[in-house]
Amino acid sequence: MKKIYDERHIMFSRARLVKGSERYVTFYKAHPEYKKGDDEIRGMAFPENLRKSDMFKRKFFPVFSNNDAYMKTMYDFLDSLKKPETPIEVPETFNTNIKGIAKQYGAKEVGIVKLETLHYYDTHGGVSEPLGDLYGKKVDKHYTHAIVFFKPMRLDSINRSPHFEELLETESVYLDVAFIGSRLAAYVKSLGYDATFASEIFSPAPLVPLAFDGGLGQIGMTNHIVNQTYGDRIRLGAVFTTLPLKPDQPVDFGLDAFCKRCSLCLMNCPNQSIKPYKRNVNGREFYKFDDQSCFRLWKNMGTDCGVCIQSCPYTQGIDLETQNWMKNDPERIDAFIKDYLKDKKGRRVSIKTPLDSVKGED
Ligand code: SF4
Ligand code: SF4
Repeated sequence: MKKIYDERHIMFSRARLVKGSERYVTFYKAHPEYKKGDDEIRGMAFPENLRKSDMFKRKFFPVFSNNDAYMKTMYDFLDSLKKPETPIEVPETFNTNIKGIAKQYGAKEVGIVKLETLHYYDTHGGVSEPLGDLYGKKVDKHYTHAIVFFKPMRLDSINRSPHFEELLETESVYLDVAFIGSRLAAYVKSLGYDATFASEIFSPAPLVPLAFDGGLGQIGMTNHIVNQTYGDRIRLGAVFTTLPLKPDQPVDFGLDAFCKRCSLCLMNCPNQSIKPYKRNVNGREFYKFDDQSCFRLWKNMGTDCGVCIQSCPYTQGIDLETQNWMKNDPERIDAFIKDYLKDKKGRRVSIKTPLDSVKGED
């Protein structure tokens, strides 16, 4: 059976439901399986549980606390732009130009997807307030193509997971990909085509299936996109548009066979949120993942963890020659992992010293 994505089901949307409200009652009547666990997490704020001094929190949470407001101004600006009445015609090869422009704006890799109804969320979950109350509204599905891209996160931040540096980096790069998307959407609009962009506060579609279809990577046991060069340490962005572009194809660099021998993300996850079982969702293999237990850990620790991102050998970098040598070969993969564990002196890299950005306060 085909799965229709509904943003109201994602953890960030569920966690925002106000206990006793009409939405709360309606949602949990239809989905009682989430209720007990969600209620335990509801209302907990990140900063309260971060094991740092008040001065640390006062100094360093503001580094990213204006992200939502910045993102809102980007949407407002895009809305204010007038679109030419007659679109400029582009050849099929214009996808090369679009990818180049996205990279000019800061994207590292870019893929094109021809959108089908099943790519979209059916209904918004209103994951953030700044754009108004979208909860329960049907998603506008008139865009025909998605330009999906990513920006890598700094390895020296990710290797400090689950400490504050990881949260700082993910939040910074969330804003960066929104900015890249907003510029690209504004550019596409100036050519005469409709365009909007995804961000932490708005998206018409889940980005992992799009990134898979656009050839940016494969879906690993973490349930994230794993890119061949940057592994799991990437933040995805996307522009949704009516500009016709030639679509890309999914890639296969042997991750399925590798994940089956590796499981490092699963073994290192502090809350057993990652599972070794797969399910097929609209033609893509997703591992089962317990978003509730993962989010509970985030809330308990006051950061968004990231240990699974850090644990992935692709995040740490595997050279292409080695990847080709072991591709789909269980014995060679085992040999690689044995050497990798020896080299990294254990199951994961974990740096305890603070980065300059947060030095001086505990
Ligand atoms: S973020 Fe942390 S808790 Fe969540 S799945 Fe990854 S390792 Fe597990
Ligand atoms: S850590 Fe290992 S099992 Fe997990 S996604 Fe990366 S390669 Fe796959």
